[in-house]
Amino acid sequence: VYTSTLPEVPILTTSIFTRLFASRGPGDVGGFPGSVTAFIDAASGASITRTQLKHLALSFAHGLRDHPATGPFAKRGATVLIYSPNSLAWPVVLHGGVAGGLRCALANSAYNARELAYQYTDSTAKLVLTAEEGLPVVRAMFAELGLSKAEGDRRIVVLGNDLRWAGGPAAAPAPDAAGLLTLADLLVRGTLDREEMFEGQDAHETVFLCYSSGTTGKPKGVETTHQNMTTVVDICENTGPPMEKGVDRMIAILPFYHIFGVSNILTFGIAVACPTVIMTRFEPVQFCANIAKYKIVFGFIVPPILVVLARHPAVDSYDLSSLQYMLSGAAPLGPELVRMVQKRLLSKRKPGSQCIITQGYGLTETSPSTHMLMWDIADRNVGSVGELLPTLLARLVDDDDGKVDAREGKPGELWIKGKTVMKGYLNNVAATKNAITPDGWFRTGDVAIRDNKGQFYIVDRRKELIKYKGFQVPPAELEALLLTHPDVADAAVIGVDSVAEATELPRAYVVPARADLVKTPKAKAAFEQAIITWVAGKVANHKRLRGGVKVIDVVPKSAAGKILRRELRDLAKEEAARG
Ligand code: AMP
Repeated sequence: VYTSTLPEVPILTTSIFTRLFASRGPGDVGGFPGSVTAFIDAASGASITRTQLKHLALSFAHGLRDHPATGPFAKRGATVLIYSPNSLAWPVVLHGGVAGGLRCALANSAYNARELAYQYTDSTAKLVLTAEEGLPVVRAMFAELGLSKAEGDRRIVVLGNDLRWAGGPAAAPAPDAAGLLTLADLLVRGTLDREEMFEGQDAHETVFLCYSSGTTGKPKGVETTHQNMTTVVDICENTGPPMEKGVDRMIAILPFYHIFGVSNILTFGIAVACPTVIMTRFEPVQFCANIAKYKIVFGFIVPPILVVLARHPAVDSYDLSSLQYMLSGAAPLGPELVRMVQKRLLSKRKPGSQCIITQGYGLTETSPSTHMLMWDIADRNVGSVGELLPTLLARLVDDDDGKVDAREGKPGELWIKGKTVMKGYLNNVAATKNAITPDGWFRTGDVAIRDNKGQFYIVDRRKELIKYKGFQVPPAELEALLLTHPDVADAAVIGVDSVAEATELPRAYVVPARADLVKTPKAKAAFEQAIITWVAGKVANHKRLRGGVKVIDVVPKSAAGKILRRELRDLAKEEAARG
């Protein structure tokens, strides 16, 4: 069993809201002056301070409870679903929900009505907080669930583009949002004196529900507790980049609905008083423009963003010299890419300038960070996910049931134990049992090696999960969908590597329902393309079959009927080698 060599952190029994926002003296919010800027909307420049954020969050919590339409759905312990791209409203409604004692289920903002309906129902949410642009999808979802339009509309709060509550620009609501309740409506009804408390045992209550497919099957609600969050924040506070607190800015480009965003940007960022510039979505030119405009010092990123920094022409058009620290996560990061970006960015700076690119590792189920490559040794250990973080224990296991540990320096499945491991999968005892052993070890499904200096390397993935640019693509979901196509007899989905895009791409191996569908090369190509197009019409953008469709005679399966993905991955590698 490996332990961390880093200093231990306290294990709190309080709400994450209290941890972040409790006042330690006059004018203080969470240990920093309330006048420090908390969040900035990149597009408009509208911003809120720490004091304003706390006040807005408490007002939102009060408004939800107080308004006759939302009150019945906003009792302590109820679940709200947030469905929105990044925005200045996010920190307000997320921490407002928490202040009101609610659980926040966070949905991918690219989901379609079917995908959203699954999470809405599974999470037992009633209210949906949505951006204006998500309204048609939310309404289609309610229709799919059999609610009348009036009934569905009563469950919607619109996070509009009108930022007057943050001193920002006024904006007319989208025409079809007329009559719906808005964030602004809820902010003006007064405020809570104090947040809901989660002391003692209550610290183990669930606060966030991000969705993850884990090692197998469909997405499941990951029950992240208050104590998971307070612990991970205290862990990361000690390992964050060496920035000037309250001054140096970070850019928020990772989606807030993913644990990487909610835990690192919306929580850690507040804990260390890092003014945070929010972008709605990633776009290379705007990304570079915002780094220059807001003199961004730090960013949490994913490997495909480094591809942009390595290759995109916009990098040459803007002054990116403020950018000193980047922390990549959510997907494997190759050393070549790191070197390319550093070379390019530093070539434009004064000698002796720095640009440190480091890496963290973790999962939704571990809140997320469990490993982190420390800033001072990042350059010497490129490619490593670094060392085990404090309060956690790790094992590298060599068999299925955890009886045998891998020998020193040899690969094994990474198992993690500690206070940041989720409570379990929501209403899914079987999946929870499968993921966490009776003595509390969480199986990551990733294979790692630990070197003799205590640095870990992720070398393989044992679970079926595919990651497209850091987004989860659960193969089981695509396979179930493919089997509903009349021309598909059987299907298996795996990830194939794209070095150019620094990501995996989902690929389907498909057995056609009839031989005549693929009789000639032309028919086969048409069949494959038709499947790609059909899937694209039915799933969120990141789940499209960008790795293509390949016809296969039979899907390789074990005697028990389990898809032998390893064989398909080997086949994909052979195909790639043949060109
Ligand atoms: P998620 O729950 O969406 O954060 O996905 C977690 C999974 O992403 C892990 O189990 C890994 O397979 C992968 N992952 C996260 N960080 C890294 C990393 N730094 N290197 C390699 N894989 C990673």
